[in-house]
Amino acid sequence: MAPRIQIRKAPQRWLTPAGGYLSGYSHTLNPYVGCAFGCSYCYVREMPVGRFREEAWGSWADVKTVDEKRFRAEWKREKTKGPLLLFFGSATDPYQPAEIRHEVTRSLLRLMAEDPPEFVLLQTRSPLVVRDTELIRLFGDRIRVSLTIETDSEDARKHFTPAAPPLQARWHAAEQLSAAGIPYQLAVSPLLPHTPAFAERLAAAAGRIVVDDFFRGDGSMGKRTERLGLRASYSAFGEPELYAPETADRFYSRLAALMPAGAVFFGQEGFRP
Ligand code: SF4
Repeated sequence: MAPRIQIRKAPQRWLTPAGGYLSGYSHTLNPYVGCAFGCSYCYVREMPVGRFREEAWGSWADVKTVDEKRFRAEWKREKTKGPLLLFFGSATDPYQPAEIRHEVTRSLLRLMAEDPPEFVLLQTRSPLVVRDTELIRLFGDRIRVSLTIETDSEDARKHFTPAAPPLQARWHAAEQLSAAGIPYQLAVSPLLPHTPAFAERLAAAAGRIVVDDFFRGDGSMGKRTERLGLRASYSAFGEPELYAPETADRFYSRLAALMPAGAVFFGQEGFRP
């Protein structure tokens, strides 16, 4: 069923002070509320925005209206206070399907490019990000696209994130970002069950990779993920023994052995500005 899309009025504030897992950033910025990709492990399900809404997570997305004048005023005001280091897409995917029509992310990037921030990490799992290549290029090395590819197994992708974009389209997007000279990383976050060829494929597809798991990457040392029922989901997938921190540790070591020093990160470090 298609997600229910609602248009919200223009927010008073777009920029939210960052902290916790996103320390190192000054602000987060989320173009939508909710997320039609509805990943089963999404930690936002456990946050107030997910918990206090009657509709199921993944079945709705609210579009924030962009008031350009108000955004520019807020941007200017915040820039006078100190360096702007933005995590773009901390509680939604900026390139979820609603972006095709509503272009909120595109509008915000265009406004930001007028007076670029010190740094922006653009977090997505959607190949739609390549639509904005020319716009992203305006940020030079002040931007990094972080493209999530948590597995190379379509069976695993369909089991854990059935509404997320197919993997082949994401691998292709990585090629396109690379060809366009856009700074990007692949985020294996969180690592899902995969084939033995996954590490080699990742190493060939990007110069920077971050690995994360359910135990150190959900902001609560695995408690949120436990509540979301991922342990049972691994069992239903037939791989219960992989639901353990050692799985990501082994994978990280394998990847690090395949790539140059400093190219592979674990957890929070890989998402820092
Ligand atoms: S794409 Fe990100 S924000 Fe959206 S449901 Fe998946 S994990 Fe959550």
